[in-house]
Amino acid sequence: EKMLFEKKIENDILPALKNDCIKTYIQPKVDMRTGRIVGGEALVRWQREDGSMVYPDEFIPVIEKNGYVLDVDDYMWDKVCYYIKQLEKEGKTPVPISINVSRMHVYQEDFIDRIKKITSKYDINPKLIPLEITESAFTSEESSLYRKIKSLQDCGYRFSMDDFGSGSSLGMLKDEHVDEVKIDKTFVDDIATDKGRILLKNVIQMIRALGIDMIAEGVETKEQADFLVNNGCIYAQGFYYYRPMP
Ligand code: C2E
Ligand code: CA
Ligand code: CA
Repeated sequence: EKMLFEKKIENDILPALKNDCIKTYIQPKVDMRTGRIVGGEALVRWQREDGSMVYPDEFIPVIEKNGYVLDVDDYMWDKVCYYIKQLEKEGKTPVPISINVSRMHVYQEDFIDRIKKITSKYDINPKLIPLEITESAFTSEESSLYRKIKSLQDCGYRFSMDDFGSGSSLGMLKDEHVDEVKIDKTFVDDIATDKGRILLKNVIQMIRALGIDMIAEGVETKEQADFLVNNGCIYAQGFYYYRPMP
C-alpha cells in the first residue's frame, strides 16, 4: 500500500504542477506583544481534482527521494516573489515571507543561481524572502552547505534554521551561518512540564546571548504565548494566532 501511494504521488506531482493543483498558502508570523503581523511563511498545498487536500508531510518526503521537490520549491519561490512584487506594485510595503528550502537543494550546484534568478526576475529585495532550512540538513554535507549559505548571505539573503531542537546542530550556532532560529513546536509543547520549561527558558536565553533572531513555531495556547514573551521570545507562528491561508 505504501509503495502504491508513493508511486501515485510520483506520477501525479508534475501534472499537478502543470494543472495549477499546487497551491501557495501563507501562515502569518506575529509579534506576540502587539499581535502585529511581522512576516509569513509560504506552505505548499496540493489540491486534488476531487477537491481533497494532500498535505506536505505526506508528499514532500516522497518527492525528496526523486528530486521533484526541486520543481515544487522553484514553483513556490516563484509564486512568493510574484506576490511580493504585486504588493509593491499596489503601493504596499510587504513583510518578509519565508520560503522552505528542501535539503535536496543543498546537494545542487545550481542552488545559488536558482535562488538569485527568481529574485532578479521579479526585482525584489532578497531580505523579503528569508530561506528556511531544516536543522537536520545542517548535519550532513556541512561544508558545501556553509559555502552556499555564506555566498547568498553576502548578497543579502537571510537564513533561518527551521525545526531547531529536533536535530542536533547546536555547534553550528557559533558560526555565522544562521540569521534566525525557529524554535521547534516540540519545545513549545513541553512547557507543560517542569523540565520542559527550564529547557525552553534557557534555549531562549542562549539564542538571545548569541545575538541570533528567533521565532517560536506551533504556538497554540495563550499560556504558551505568555511564557514565551515573559522569557524573551516575542515572535511566533501558530494556530493560536493564524492558520495557514490561501
Ligand atoms: P515546517 O516548515 O516546520 O512548517 C510548519 C508546519 O507547522 C506547517 O505544516 C504548519 O501548518 C504547521 N503549524 C503551524 N502552526 C501550527 C500550530 O500551532 N500547531 C500545529 N499542530 N501545527 C502548526 P504543513 O504546512 O503541513 O507543512 C509541513 C512541513 O512540510 C513543513 O514543516 C515543511 O517542512 C514542509 N513544507 C511545506 N511547504 C513546503 C515547501 O514549499 N517546500 C518544501 N521543501 N517543504 C515544504
Ligand atoms: Ca519551515
Ligand atoms: Ca518548522
